[in-house]
Amino acid sequence: MNAGHAPAFDGGHAVNPPLVRASTVLFDNVAQQREMRARRGGERLFTYGARGTPTTFALEDAVSELEGGHRTRLFPTGLAAIGMSLLAYLKPGDHVLMSDSVYQPTRHLARSFLAPYGIRCTFFNADGSDAASLMEPATRLVYAEAPGSLVYEMCDLPRLAEMAHARGALLAADNTWGSGCQYRPLALGADISIMAATKYLSGHSDVMMGTVCTTQAAWQPLAERSDAFGMTVSPDDAWLVMRGLRTL
Ligand SMILES: *Cc1c(COP(=O)(O)O)cnc(C)c1O
Repeated sequence: MNAGHAPAFDGGHAVNPPLVRASTVLFDNVAQQREMRARRGGERLFTYGARGTPTTFALEDAVSELEGGHRTRLFPTGLAAIGMSLLAYLKPGDHVLMSDSVYQPTRHLARSFLAPYGIRCTFFNADGSDAASLMEPATRLVYAEAPGSLVYEMCDLPRLAEMAHARGALLAADNTWGSGCQYRPLALGADISIMAATKYLSGHSDVMMGTVCTTQAAWQPLAERSDAFGMTVSPDDAWLVMRGLRTL
């Protein structure tokens, strides 16, 4: 029965993207469904609610523009965005070098989950002064937070990026305080920028969300891991964050 199914939505010309909720998406025929499913690993396609809807795609694009990155994924909280980033770029046996200024739950995640899972973590001074001396052959990720929690320590991000890349590691930064408005880690050499949209992006203390924006080169592991874990957000929440973003 087809009655009640929405026609394909093209976004129209509304200034603020309308709210679109969806789980199952219909295709014209089985061949088209198979083709879309085959392509969706590499392209952003509207094939199932968990893979995003036109509403979440619009917020992803806004964050990518704000951060100056390739693409963005949305997460139910800022902390979930951090956790998924760590899981996307690290595996047991790896080492992560983390700023001492990280948001406390990030440190808790490193100690309570990463360590027992076989991913070692050490902390560098928030100004980055001892980071080079703490790099190890197994260091796959350098994780900064600048401005840092809670007293806004800054580090030399371009220098950390150079150091990480010279040793075959990636640089991630929690950009919650910088918000993409004040500070753009990707423009300073980072590969991955994470924000708790819960804070400045939403701006109204009524929604939880996290974002991860990456360079093109760093994108695939994040996309694959997020899909594997079924990470998604409510389009209603994405709509609220987009509304908050307009007055960032
Ligand atoms: C609040 C915050 C987070 C986590 O965001 P939630 O949406 O509360 O999970 C991460 N990093 C920083 C710097 C924060 O201030």
